[in-house]
Amino acid sequence: HQDTTSHYSRPVNQAIGRVPAAIGQKKRRVVVTGGSGFVGSHLVDKLIARGDDVIVIDNFFTGRKENVAHHFGNPRFELIRHDVVEPILLEVDQIYHLACPASPVHYKFNPCDYKTNVMGTLNMLGLAKRIGARFLLTSTSEVYGDPLEHPQKETYWGHVNPIGVRSCYDEGKRTAETLTMDYHRGDGVEVRIARIFNTYGPRMCLDDGRVVSNFVAQAIRKQPMTVYGDGKQTRSFQYVSDLVDGLMALMEGEHIGPFNLGNPGEFTMLELAQVVKETIDPSATIEFKENTADDPQKRKPDISKAKSLLNWEPKITLRQGLPRMAADFRNRILNEDEGKGE
Ligand code: NAD
Ligand code: UDP
Ligand code: UDP
Repeated sequence: HQDTTSHYSRPVNQAIGRVPAAIGQKKRRVVVTGGSGFVGSHLVDKLIARGDDVIVIDNFFTGRKENVAHHFGNPRFELIRHDVVEPILLEVDQIYHLACPASPVHYKFNPCDYKTNVMGTLNMLGLAKRIGARFLLTSTSEVYGDPLEHPQKETYWGHVNPIGVRSCYDEGKRTAETLTMDYHRGDGVEVRIARIFNTYGPRMCLDDGRVVSNFVAQAIRKQPMTVYGDGKQTRSFQYVSDLVDGLMALMEGEHIGPFNLGNPGEFTMLELAQVVKETIDPSATIEFKENTADDPQKRKPDISKAKSLLNWEPKITLRQGLPRMAADFRNRILNEDEGKGE
């Protein structure tokens, strides 16, 4: 990017010329959009533990202050209530862009998701361009849609219904990836793209409708686990700490991606219910419910690219991860029940 005459490369050259202040040094200033959500709050914990200054931007659409409340009072932590659809001015070295409701229940309820993905990503890329920060997009396995290739490699272009009920999310993330690559190619912004596969762990919303949170909450509440369709569709479930390690390896590494970040262990929904039964409550039962539209039949990441280029692979199996999540869910469900009694 030596072209200084193009309109588009002007701010870039300013950005590139200025070595981002803290990359490569110990202390960084980092923004996490969506940082009070499930994944974001675990990422914030690890960044703070590493010694970074962390600013969380969140509009609390699906996130909760409780997820980051343990950092209140820490001078290296700041929480800003802000919708990424609106522009914002900040000075930081790295931007982890997570803001976006991730559960099908939420995004079907509020298809404005598309706007969050497009306007929000555009604003964060504009910010990255102005200040010369490195930008990481948390994209999704949903860019592969109902995949015709199995397992999915990063080279697969996907099979998405552009007018379906899930498309605000799938197409929103696909557009976010496009914007990210455009700002990289056209404006020289340093970017990273992660395609995240189904992730679970403590602090997931109790009632966000995703399968792991549903089954775990149902087992703890002694309700039947709701299996949609025949339960033979598959997913691969990654524990949240593995994802956070992958996101940080990606941000610190030299490769743009996209990288699949997921656990290749593949389970049918019936098998997942069985593991919940074995690890959480042996008396748990299941009931079948009608499946939702456009439900992908299979999903499993090929993670060879992340293994070889990021030296990353997940460590926690489903049988190890589920009990850790259940401990957090038990506490929260207990508090909920106590709250009702007051
Ligand atoms: P989450 O819903 O718990 O977190 C998203 C956070 O973004 C919430 O705190 C929410 O309040 C915030 N947010 C939403 N819209 C916003 C807006 N317009 N402005 C500011 N903040 C906003 O979801 P999560 O599971 O933690 O997901 C984090 C990211 O990872 C998302 O981008 C999601 O698409 C991606 N992802 C997650 C999974 C998964 O299985 N958890 C899978 C693939 C991709
Ligand atoms: N933007 C922002 N913070 C910044 C710089 C830009 O929120 O520090 C927003 C800006 O308002 C715009 C978007 O990012 O809506 C894209 O910015 P860019 O400069 O790339 O585009 P332009 O303003 O030239 O359309
Ligand atoms: N699912 C299910 N019972 C539930 C919730 C979901 O059987 O209570 C199924 C759903 O039909 C899908 C899979 O679990 O096949 C994963 O759904 P989720 O919403 O967790 O994630 P995504 O579809 O985005 O991968």
